[in-house]
Amino acid sequence: MTVQTSMELPMAGSELDESDIQAVLNVLRSGRLALGPEAEAFGEELAQRVDARFGVAVSSGTAALHIAVRALGWGPGDEVLVPSFTFVASVNALLYEGVTPVFVDIDPRTFCLDPQCVEAALTPRTKGIMVVDVFGHPAPWGELLEIAQRHGLRLIDDSCEALGAEYQGRKLGSLADVSTFAFYPNKQITTGEGGMLVTDDPQIASLARSLRNQGRGEMGAWLEHPRLGFNYRMSELNAALGRSQLARLDRFMALREQVAHMYTQRLAKVEGIKPPVVEPDVRMSWFVYVVTLDEGIQRDEIVRTLKTHGVPSRAYFSPIHRQPCAAQWAPEEGSLPVTEDVAARTLALPFHNRLSEAQVERVASALEEALADRRD
Ligand SMILES: *Cc1c(COP(=O)(O)O)cnc(C)c1O
Repeated sequence: MTVQTSMELPMAGSELDESDIQAVLNVLRSGRLALGPEAEAFGEELAQRVDARFGVAVSSGTAALHIAVRALGWGPGDEVLVPSFTFVASVNALLYEGVTPVFVDIDPRTFCLDPQCVEAALTPRTKGIMVVDVFGHPAPWGELLEIAQRHGLRLIDDSCEALGAEYQGRKLGSLADVSTFAFYPNKQITTGEGGMLVTDDPQIASLARSLRNQGRGEMGAWLEHPRLGFNYRMSELNAALGRSQLARLDRFMALREQVAHMYTQRLAKVEGIKPPVVEPDVRMSWFVYVVTLDEGIQRDEIVRTLKTHGVPSRAYFSPIHRQPCAAQWAPEEGSLPVTEDVAARTLALPFHNRLSEAQVERVASALEEALADRRD
C-alpha cells in the first residue's frame, strides 16, 4: 500500500501493512508511550542490522546528526569538511554547534565526496569529515578512512539516505566514528519522523543517550542534568513502527532495486540522459532514482513538460552553499565546479517500492517525449 495517494503517480511513498498498524496499536494499548522498551529494542535491532555495537533512537535524522557533532566535541574554530551536494541537515548539524563547514567537491559519477578534493581542503583546523552516502550510494570509504587515519580526523557518516548499503562488503553504520540514519516517510523504512545514531564507542553511545534526554545522566535522578541536552527522544509509537518496518528492510531494498533496474533498462535507449552509476564494489540502497541530463538541456523545461504529462520530477539537490542559510560559508565562486555542474543537471524521477512496470513506462515515455520536444 502506498500511503501518498493524492497524486496518481507520487514522487515517493512508504509501505505500511497490517503488522505495522498492529505494532503501533500494541503500544497504544500498553499505555506506555515514551521512554520504554520499544525505543531501546529498535536501537539494538538497527545497530545489529548495520554491524554496529550501539544504537540510540532519536526524533529525527537531523537530531542524530546534531548529537553526533556534539558528542565528537566539534565546535567554534573547528573546520569540518562536508559536501555541498547534500540535504541541508548535514550542514545544519555543524552550524548548530558553531563549527565551520568547509564545502568540498564531489565525484561526477557517484555524487559523493571526491577524496582528492578532501585532501586539498585540509588545514590545521580540520577536525573531521561529514561524509554523505548520497542517494544511497556509499561514499569512497576506503580512501576516506585512510585520509582520516593519516591526519587524525574523525568521521561522521550521514547515512540518512543509505540504510542497508554496503561498501566492499562492509555495512554502512560500521565504518565511521558515528553514523546516522533517518526514517522520514520517503526513506527506505519509516517511523513517520525519526532517526538513529549508531556507534561502536561506548562513551559516545552513553553521551548520545544523555544528550537526547535533556542532558540527564544515565543513572542519575530525573531532575539532575549534568550537561546541556535536548529533547530528541523517539516515542514508543514511532519506535514500534520502526521495528516492524526494519523487519522488512531486505524486502524493501529488493523491491527498490527492481524498480531501479526497470528504469535503467528502459532509459538505456533514451538520448539526452545518463542513468545513475553504481560502482562495482558497493551495494546500493536505492533511496531515489536520479538521472543526469546532458549538457545544454534546460531542466526546468523538462520538469514542466513532465508535469503536463502528470509525471512529477524534482531538481535534486540544490547545493547548500547556494542557500541563504549557509551563504556565509560559501567558498569562492567556481571552486566547486563538479557540484555546480551536477546540481544543474540532475533530475529525480518518481520512485518507491511499488512502482509498476507500467508506471515506469509512463515516466520513461514522458521523459523521452520531453527530451524530443525541447526547443534548444
Ligand atoms: C533525510 C536526510 C537527513 C535527515 O532528515 P530528517 O528529516 O531530519 O530525518 C539527513 N541527511 C540527509 C542526507 C538526508 O537525506
